[in-house]
Amino acid sequence: MDDLQIQLLIDLHRSNFRQGPGGEAETKQALMLAGLDKSRPLKIADIGCGTGASTIQLAKELDAEITAVDFLPEFLKELQSRAKEHGVADKITTLSCSMDALPFTDEEFDVIWSEGAIYNMGFEAGVSAWRSFLKPGGKLIVSEITWLTAERPSELQSHWDAEYFEIDVASAKIGVIERHGFIPEGYFYLPTSCWIDNYYRPMQNGFDAFLERNSGSDQAREIVECEKAEIALYEKHRDHYSYGVYIAKKI
Ligand code: SAH
Repeated sequence: MDDLQIQLLIDLHRSNFRQGPGGEAETKQALMLAGLDKSRPLKIADIGCGTGASTIQLAKELDAEITAVDFLPEFLKELQSRAKEHGVADKITTLSCSMDALPFTDEEFDVIWSEGAIYNMGFEAGVSAWRSFLKPGGKLIVSEITWLTAERPSELQSHWDAEYFEIDVASAKIGVIERHGFIPEGYFYLPTSCWIDNYYRPMQNGFDAFLERNSGSDQAREIVECEKAEIALYEKHRDHYSYGVYIAKKI
């Protein structure tokens, strides 16, 4: 991806509340399944936080000191201004860094949270690398693109084989979690509303303004076409895949 493409993607996504599928009720459900101790301050890393949909919710619901990590400083800037609006800026520190080169120390965190982002380094690599940053008994809460069915139409299979070869069924993802020294404590998958109402619709509503801001450049148009194709694929095949949300405890 060249620099201009990255700038365009930032421009398209920055003003949206989320940069991936998710929802407040679902973040709450994950919190509940994780059974976090609310009686003491928790040290949390939110990795691939984007503009902070989950970060801000966690800051509001928990007694927490949160490090919000993303490799795009533009998203972190937006997160900081939203955190101020919500009165939780003092609970959040931002860190612009790649998720595969985190500067954390061993057993630093009570919780590692990551919504819609771990695929950027690969699920298995992320689960394995991030484990060391958790205290024993610490919790990993991570959402990951997941097949909901054992069989899929070939059009869909070949799309995802090309996009992200690690996409798999939940039982396989849970196997990865187990093999890397975690006890799986919970799993559910995001309902359609998390994709359509919370992510795709707001993005679609911004397409015209995005094209106008970028004078309808070929690259901007290409990005919109690419997002439209992704949305059409989801609408056609949504019974076959979603984000799975995995909750696990470090042994
Ligand atoms: N958690 C947010 C954003 C999900 S989109 C939400 O649910 O809304 C994925 C995020 O991962 C984006 O913000 C993107 O900038 C970030 N990202 C992608 N590759 C990354 C990397 N290598 N290191 C850190 N962040 C990365």
